Amino acid sequence: MGSVVAIGSANVDVIFRVSHLVAAGETLHARDVSEAAGGKSANQAAAEARLGAPARFVGCVGDDDHGRLALRALGDAGVDTAGVRIRTDAPTGSAFICVDDASENTIVLSTGANDLFSPDDLDDLVLSPTDVVTLCCEPPAALVAEAARRAHDASATVIMNASPVAGFDPQTLQWTDILVVNAAELAALVGGGTADDEVRAARSRLGVSTLVVTLGAAGAVIARTDVITRIPGHRVEAVDTTGCGDAFLGALAAGLVTGHAFEDAARRANAAAALAATAPGAQPSYPTAPQLERDAM
Ligand code: ATP
Repeated sequence: MGSVVAIGSANVDVIFRVSHLVAAGETLHARDVSEAAGGKSANQAAAEARLGAPARFVGCVGDDDHGRLALRALGDAGVDTAGVRIRTDAPTGSAFICVDDASENTIVLSTGANDLFSPDDLDDLVLSPTDVVTLCCEPPAALVAEAARRAHDASATVIMNASPVAGFDPQTLQWTDILVVNAAELAALVGGGTADDEVRAARSRLGVSTLVVTLGAAGAVIARTDVITRIPGHRVEAVDTTGCGDAFLGALAAGLVTGHAFEDAARRANAAAALAATAPGAQPSYPTAPQLERDAM
C-alpha cells in the first residue's frame, strides 16, 4: 500500500469568542480564547490518518509553541511529520479569529513559515505510483506547482483542492488527476452552476479526468469523463462545518490509498465530511474508521 502525502500549509487558529466584532479603535475583552491546529493541508493529513490511512504531512512551521502544537496535533492523529521543515526565521502560520454571539467572524491570517515553503524543500521527497498526493492553494503557487509536477512524474495520484480559489494556478491542471472544488470555487473557475450539464462541461473545459464538486449539506456531484454521479448529503445535525471540505478531500484520498474504488471512496468521503459537521472545530471533528463504519456508512 502507498501512503497519502499532504503537501502544503499548517496553521494554528487562535479563536477569540467575543460579544460583538471589534470596531476601529475599540478594546474588547474576549469571553474566552482557544487554540486549535489548522491549515488546509494539515487538516487533510489529519483526516487521512484518523481514517487509518498511512499519511505523511510535508510543510513548514516555525520553531515556536504554535509549531509544536501543529506537530503534536498531527502526531496525535497518526500523521508522519518527518518531512516537516522547522524554520527559525519565521513564526508558524496563524489565524486570529473572532467569533461573536451571532456567529459572525473576522479572520486575520499571518501565513508565516508557510510562505517560506519552497520548491527546493521537495528535493528529498520520495513518492511512488501507489501514493496519493493532496494539494491545496494556501502555500506559495510555485511550491504547489512543483509538488504537483513531481507527484505526476512519480505516477502518484494527484488530488488538487482549488481552495482558496484566488491562489489557484491553472497550469497545475496538467498534473492533476482529481480536482475538488465547492460550488463557489467552480463558479469562480468556469462560471455556471452545478447542474449535470454544467458540471460535465466544466470537467471537459478544465481538462481533468475527474471533477468533484462538493455541495455542502447536499453532498457532492462527480464528473468522471462524461459520466455524472450524484452523492446525496447525509442528514446530520450540523454544529460546525469548519474544515468539512478538508475532511471530504482527506477521506477521499484515504479511501483511494486503502484500495476503495473511486465511487466508494467518494461516498465514504461524503459520510466522513458529514460526521465532521456534527462536532466543533476542524481536526478534532474528523472521524476514525470505526466511527465512519458505525455512524455513517
Ligand atoms: P469548508 O470551507 O467549510 O471546509 P467547503 O465549502 O470546502 O467547506 P462544502 O461543500 O461546504 O465544502 O462541504 C464539504 C462536504 O462536507 C460536503 O460535500 C458534505 O459531504 C459535507 N457537509 C458539509 N456541510 C454539511 C451538512 N450541513 N450536512 C451534511 N454534510 C455536510
